[in-house]
Amino acid sequence: MIIYKFGGTSVGNAQRMKKVASLITNDDISKVVVLSAVSGTTNTLVEIGELLQKRKPETAIKLIESLRNDYNQLISELYDTPEAHKKGTEILDKYFGQMLSLANIPDFNLGNNKTMLAFGEILSTNLFQIYMESNNHDSQLISALDFMTIDAEGEPEIEEIGKKLKPQLNKRLTITQGFICRNPQGQTDNLKRGGSDYSASIIGAAIQAEEIQIWTDIDGMHNNDPRIVKKTAPIAALTFDEAAELAYFGAKILHPASILPAQKYKIPVRLKSTINPDAEGTLIGSKTSSRDVKAIAAKDGITAVKIKSSRMLLAYGFLKNIFEVFGQFKTSIDMVTTSEVAVSLTIDDDTHLESIKTELNKFGNVEVDINQTIICIVGDLISEKSGILKRIFDAVSDIPVRMVSYGGSRNNISLLIDSKLKADVLNALNDGLFENVKD
Ligand code: ADP
Ligand code: ASP
Ligand code: MG
Repeated sequence: MIIYKFGGTSVGNAQRMKKVASLITNDDISKVVVLSAVSGTTNTLVEIGELLQKRKPETAIKLIESLRNDYNQLISELYDTPEAHKKGTEILDKYFGQMLSLANIPDFNLGNNKTMLAFGEILSTNLFQIYMESNNHDSQLISALDFMTIDAEGEPEIEEIGKKLKPQLNKRLTITQGFICRNPQGQTDNLKRGGSDYSASIIGAAIQAEEIQIWTDIDGMHNNDPRIVKKTAPIAALTFDEAAELAYFGAKILHPASILPAQKYKIPVRLKSTINPDAEGTLIGSKTSSRDVKAIAAKDGITAVKIKSSRMLLAYGFLKNIFEVFGQFKTSIDMVTTSEVAVSLTIDDDTHLESIKTELNKFGNVEVDINQTIICIVGDLISEKSGILKRIFDAVSDIPVRMVSYGGSRNNISLLIDSKLKADVLNALNDGLFENVKD
């Protein structure tokens, strides 16, 4: 059994959906096919939810109606027979009807919002299954809401998911939704934006699949952010650790947590392009390819916090006290650097920043810098391979670097910079570290 996950652009219009159908039916491999929402739909649902939380139902309803028009167009291009078109219309009537009912709830709350966000994947999978049936492909649709569960900490219940899902996999092709799940209260929830990758990895781990394939609009993990840097190239092989670092530190091709279940259950992950299916893509597993520096990624929205105190001098327990404050507010720390009189660290979730600052003030002077970016350089960067730091520092010699983290793991060197400098730094590092990258 192989998991095939197709992202938003891969199911972005009727033509692309048809291509997905042909990709999954051109061999005899049994598959669980995980689909995202049609590209743009989740963004629209987020917008609708925000309007409803601001009590602006009229504008929200207009957006729902305009989304419905887009789907009317989609099904008219997707289906060839009146029967399939009729079934598609019934699906649209059903789920757009539910969206309108939600929009009319006077005290629309966060729970209602999560229900709203789920319609993207519910629509794409239902419409796709009708296409498969109308073309005589023997597939089944299983709702992720019937098996994909998370615990009170938001962690997937992998063993439970496997127990529920395995007995249902009795067709060669099973279609299901990415992104959506149920929480311990039994309500509809989700795995955060971009979470369909995570769904695929969780399902792969839960049923001990042979491989997890993430199909998207690019031919694998590139060695730098292709949205910002021109000359980037796909990487043939990455270890789980390397891929996990890149995903966590901003390589948008993968959801930040998506490698972890695959890694834990040792299931290889292959990144493939729906636009160019013959391209080799990237294989993530236990093997690495030869280059020492493999890739660079950037994570925005970082806040740097510095705590300065002469009491730290020769004192023990200072770091413990500082970290406890972040622990108390369930805020995770990405980078840490220390000197004799100060600790600098970074967080990406500033929800509790004010309370954290109040607590930290008890230990010293607190300074906060917002709009920071972590630049993460990933590869087999063990210290014996001397010269890496020099190459990095030479590349960014004109750029003010706020923090450097080296030695925490053999895979990662991180720099903290002002977000305004991100494009400059990514390009400078590309030129300095990947001289042989071809056009
Ligand atoms: P999907 O909708 O299929 O989940 P995403 O948009 O989430 O696709 O991810 C694919 C996109 O990730 C690519 O189009 C590319 O612009 C972006 N991306 C960012 N960093 C990288 C990288 N290092 N390698 C490949 N793609 C990347
Ligand atoms: N549809 C969801 C999103 O746009 C999940 C995903 O595409 O992975 O975030
Ligand atoms: Mg994605």
